[in-house]
Amino acid sequence: MEDTKMADKINVLIPEETVDAKIKEIGEQISKDYAGKEVHLICILKGGVFFACELAKRITVPVSLDFMQVSSYGNATESSGIVRIKKDLDDTMENKEVIIVEDIIDSGRTLHYLIPVLKQRNPASIRLCALLNKPDRREVEVQIDYLGFDIPDEFVVGYGLDYAQKYRNLPFIGVVEPDAAEDAPETAEGAENVTGEEK
Ligand code: 5GP
Ligand code: MG
Ligand code: MG
Repeated sequence: MEDTKMADKINVLIPEETVDAKIKEIGEQISKDYAGKEVHLICILKGGVFFACELAKRITVPVSLDFMQVSSYGNATESSGIVRIKKDLDDTMENKEVIIVEDIIDSGRTLHYLIPVLKQRNPASIRLCALLNKPDRREVEVQIDYLGFDIPDEFVVGYGLDYAQKYRNLPFIGVVEPDAAEDAPETAEGAENVTGEEK
């Protein structure tokens, strides 16, 4: 029987080699900045997981890892900025040098909400590391301490980022071709907030 399932067309925005080289560079920078210390990476699931693993391998100071899963409440087009913690951290972050590892900063609302919440848990320090940033989409201020790439306002997939839970495993950053993405939600929040799904 013929397989009638359509495959989405994905155009490469940032090739695998470029992403890998950048992660290596960020890892080296973090290793320098935290020389003589230990870092505690907090990976924001699910999108941050591929980036966090690759980054951790490039850090030469001792690394511990913890995971958190969040979702935002809102309607199809606008995130409310209220973040629900779906899976909290396993370990304390008290007195640790924390780096939050996130896939992408879009409106900024998720991290704008989350960082002050995590600061209340008394880490020694807290910084944000994001693989991607969409400056044109920013609605609230977020300081990104370590950044991979600024990208245009396009819905991207790969390296942890999904389209309807698919394509996280692509080893590059790609854009789903507009035709194929016809039924896609307009924004990232749209994709996830309707159901309060994980990021
Ligand atoms: P915000 O910064 O708007 O609070 O939300 C960031 C989250 O929205 C990211 O962690 C990611 O899960 C999702 N997101 C934003 N832009 C994109 C995108 O282009 N592609 C995908 N797959 N997710 C995105
Ligand atoms: Mg995310
Ligand atoms: Mg998603």
